[in-house]
Amino acid sequence: MPENPSKDYFVGVDLGGTKILAGVFNAKLELKGTTKLSTKADRGVDEVIERIARCVKEAVDECDLNLAQVRGIGIGAPGAVDTDAGRVIFAPNLPGWKDVPLKKALEKLLDVPVFLGNDCNVCTLGVFDQEYKAKPRDLIGIFIGTGIGGGLILNGDLYHGHNLTAGEIGHMVIEVNGPKCGCGNRGCFEALASRTAIFREIQAGVKEGQETMLTDMLGKDLSDMRSGDLRKAIRRGDKLATKVVEAAAEFAGIGVANLINILNPEIVVVGGGVIEALADEMMPTLIKAAKEHVMPGTMSGIDIKASKLGDNAGITGAAVLARRGTA
Ligand SMILES: [Zn+2]
Repeated sequence: MPENPSKDYFVGVDLGGTKILAGVFNAKLELKGTTKLSTKADRGVDEVIERIARCVKEAVDECDLNLAQVRGIGIGAPGAVDTDAGRVIFAPNLPGWKDVPLKKALEKLLDVPVFLGNDCNVCTLGVFDQEYKAKPRDLIGIFIGTGIGGGLILNGDLYHGHNLTAGEIGHMVIEVNGPKCGCGNRGCFEALASRTAIFREIQAGVKEGQETMLTDMLGKDLSDMRSGDLRKAIRRGDKLATKVVEAAAEFAGIGVANLINILNPEIVVVGGGVIEALADEMMPTLIKAAKEHVMPGTMSGIDIKASKLGDNAGITGAAVLARRGTA
C-alpha cells in the first residue's frame, strides 16, 4: 500500500559552502532518502541555485516520488537570512551571495513552496522539534564545527532579532585579547573552541616542539587532520591533543555559562562535527566549566546535552521549517 496518497512529503536542504544535502521526509518527518551534490560555490549564484534544485529533484526521484507530492521545501543557508522575504542577505562562504532571492528563484524552478532559514537556526529547530518533541519552552542550540553557530528557541519558536542575526553565538567574545576571529574581532567563542581553533592550537604546539602521536598518524604538517583523529589520539593518552581539546571544551563551557546567565533556557544542546566526534571527551569538561562560571543559582534543573541528530540536524530542521510553514 502506498504510504501516503499525495502532497505529504517535505524536503529539507542543508546548503553548505562545499556540499548541498537534500533529504526527503514523510508527513511524520521520517527520513526516506538523501542526495548529496557539491555546491560549486565558485561558479556563482545562479549555478548554485540550479544545483540546489537539481539536488532536490534527484532526492525526490530516488525515493520514487515526484515534486507534485512535496508539500514544502525547507532550506538552511549559511549566513544572514531574511526568513520572511526568503532572501540570503550575505553568506561569507558563498562568493557573490548578497541579497539573493533564493526562495523566489527556487519556487520558480520547482513549483513548490520554499522556506528559508539560517543554517544553525534551522539545526536548532530540528533538535527542538524532533529530538525534544517541541516540549521545552526555551532551548539553545550550539553547533561546533569549522566555525560555531547557534540558534535560540524562545517561547517555542526561533528568535530572529532586530537585524535577523540573533543566535550568532560563535561571536560572543570570551577572551578579550584572544586569537583573531574570521569576523575581525578577537577572542570570539569560534576563535577559541571551533575545529579551526583546535587545529590551530595543535599545529602551534607541534611548531613549538611538543610531542604528539598525531604527527605519526598524519605527517609533520598535520594536513587532513579530522576531529576523529583527535579522538583516537586522546584515547591513546596523547598529551597535546588532550590539553588542546580540554581547553576548547572549557571555553565552550564558559560560552554556555554566559548564555545560561542571559537566557536561562531549559536545555542547552551542543552539536556539530566536533561534538559528534568528541562528545565523550568534551561534554564533561564543558558541563563542569559551565557550572563553575554561571551566576550561583541560575543552573538548577538546566540540562546541557550533546545532540543525537548528527549530520542530519540540518536537513531535519529544514524539513521542520517546511512543515511549520505549510501547516
Ligand atoms: Zn568572531
